[in-house]
Amino acid sequence: MENYKLLTPGPLTTTSSVKEEMLFDRCTWDDDYKKMTQQIRRRLLEIAFVSPHTYTAVLLQGSGSFGVEAVLATCIQPEDKCLIIVNGAYGERMVTMAKYIGINYILYSVPYDKVPVANDIAVMLKNDRCITHVAMVHCETTTGILNPLEDIANICKKDNITFIVDAMSSFGGIEIKVEDLAIDYLISSANKCIQGVPGFCFVVAKIEKLLSCQGTAKSLSLDLYDQWKCMEKDGKWRFTSPTHVVAAFSKALEELTAEGGVLARYKRYSENNSVLRDKLKAMGITAYIRKEFQSPIITTFLFPSIKFDFADFYQYVKANGFVLYPGKLTDLNTFRIGNIGEVYKQDIVQLCDIIEKYMEEKINE
Ligand SMILES: *Cc1c(COP(=O)(O)O)cnc(C)c1O
Repeated sequence: MENYKLLTPGPLTTTSSVKEEMLFDRCTWDDDYKKMTQQIRRRLLEIAFVSPHTYTAVLLQGSGSFGVEAVLATCIQPEDKCLIIVNGAYGERMVTMAKYIGINYILYSVPYDKVPVANDIAVMLKNDRCITHVAMVHCETTTGILNPLEDIANICKKDNITFIVDAMSSFGGIEIKVEDLAIDYLISSANKCIQGVPGFCFVVAKIEKLLSCQGTAKSLSLDLYDQWKCMEKDGKWRFTSPTHVVAAFSKALEELTAEGGVLARYKRYSENNSVLRDKLKAMGITAYIRKEFQSPIITTFLFPSIKFDFADFYQYVKANGFVLYPGKLTDLNTFRIGNIGEVYKQDIVQLCDIIEKYMEEKINE
């Protein structure tokens, strides 16, 4: 089988050493395994810049969406009202979840190429005193836009609003000072910027808030409070844990530290991203999101003006060792390139050479 590097926003390319951790079958109730879980939880708190006295980390089986749904299902009471900020598919998914769960919510949405305006949110909170929660996506992976976390956080903080952040595709790749920003629930997953493999998600939660959530969830498997209470005892997961994934994640955390932490990773991703944007722009392939709002995670590109068939392009690039991502916009022809994971500047340069060759061949056809 041909091997390739993933230029997708997760699952992403991981190191061989992370994958090798999965060659050993671990026992879920063994002390060493439970210790590993506890260590992961402590390390996540450090990465989130929070005190272990005020915050906790809860790991939960399933992909990232399970974590978002667990938070919405567990941490919003029937009398609460949540303002959901939408400028992409992951914001929309939170709205879908809110409908399923049956929580009160109100929508604030802007076009997918625009960021939410903090002042608009402030006005909405002022005009509707029933709003108790705000939920937003940090990096909207749909487009690659980076939403103004700090501005919205400051507004929530001032109004004492419970703040929920889907930082799925940014946590570990962009520094987020969770306690300073007074984020109450931050959700991410194993297979994004921490560079593990898919299989579980995690929530960094403010203990004081989580303590008041007992008995709220109408789903047993997604009850974040129960999951926390069980894990808190000694690191034993409630229900079967994804042992191989957890071991790989533990290794991935070590490698994040070895790289120099989140800031070093941010620099690598940022360089990957700007090289990619600049080189493709020079070839006439422009990014959908303006540079000032572009995240260092994933970029959406408009189809170039030459006769362009994404399936053909995809196969060509794949045959040369890289896998790209289709676009997620309904009104525009786009494709996406992720630049996170075990991916370096030389990979991006190599990819751009492949794309350049493809474009030349198409023009000469
Ligand atoms: C990846 C991602 C999710 C979760 O998606 P899953 O497919 O459930 O893992 C949620 N929000 C954002 C912003 C994401 O990038």
